[in-house]
Amino acid sequence: MIKRLLMTILLSGSLALAAIAQVPFGDYFEDKALRLDFFHVGDAKEETITPDRIFEEALWPGSRSHLLDPFNSRRYGGGSIGFDYCVTTVDHAASRQVFVHEFGHSFAGLADEYYQSEIAYNDFYPKGVEPLEPNITALLDPANIKWKELLSPGISLPTEYGKEKIETLQAERRKNREAQAKAIEQAKQKGTGEAEVKKIEAKFREADKTLTRQIENVRKQYESLSDKVGAFEGASYASKGLFRPMMYCLMISSPKNEFCLVCQRAIARMIDYYAPVPGSKGLR
Ligand SMILES: [Zn+2]
Repeated sequence: MIKRLLMTILLSGSLALAAIAQVPFGDYFEDKALRLDFFHVGDAKEETITPDRIFEEALWPGSRSHLLDPFNSRRYGGGSIGFDYCVTTVDHAASRQVFVHEFGHSFAGLADEYYQSEIAYNDFYPKGVEPLEPNITALLDPANIKWKELLSPGISLPTEYGKEKIETLQAERRKNREAQAKAIEQAKQKGTGEAEVKKIEAKFREADKTLTRQIENVRKQYESLSDKVGAFEGASYASKGLFRPMMYCLMISSPKNEFCLVCQRAIARMIDYYAPVPGSKGLR
């Protein structure tokens, strides 16, 4: 019946996200019976799942419950459906972070904060429309930004953090790496000796190191912004026109493995919604 096993967790205050983040994943799911072999539909060969199939499940728990579906696989990956459902693999080195990231989507309706520097705008969030998600903004009205109460005093909106400089250097480094691969390939085709190939490698490696150092230097210049809340351009797959609250967050990447303060607030609000404290004033 493992294919029918659904983990329905009626969230309460005791299931604070912080608890999940701090408890080792293996301990949290100590009962291995709760670890599914693959997708909950039980097909080990299945690699994609559509919302329709999830909703067809006889035991679908409904919108007031939350389905978390980790499955045994060494592959990197996960996915989620806002306010309903998330899945991740559990045996990849990054699985714990992926799980918490996906949980952020499915539990609190958070948007992805990562983006690709080559993609300026995307169709996912139409220009000139403020996104619904609590952790990204189109910054159409900076004076009333949705995380106004959390802004760091005196921060400029949008917040300059060296993005253009870093991305220009990263693009140069990418080009250099591509040129290296090409030069080595050509040298090998010509039957160039090992020593000569090593020389070519060394030349490109030096340029790579210099660019990496320059990137790090720009990052250092803006290091003091790492704990500040502002409006940092680049979010939800778009390099331009969408802004995130902080430089680092589990919805983009976080050296400290933490959600930004705005995402933390969104999660706390959702916990209040599911498990309001009697007598409290409700949402924070
Ligand atoms: Zn965030």
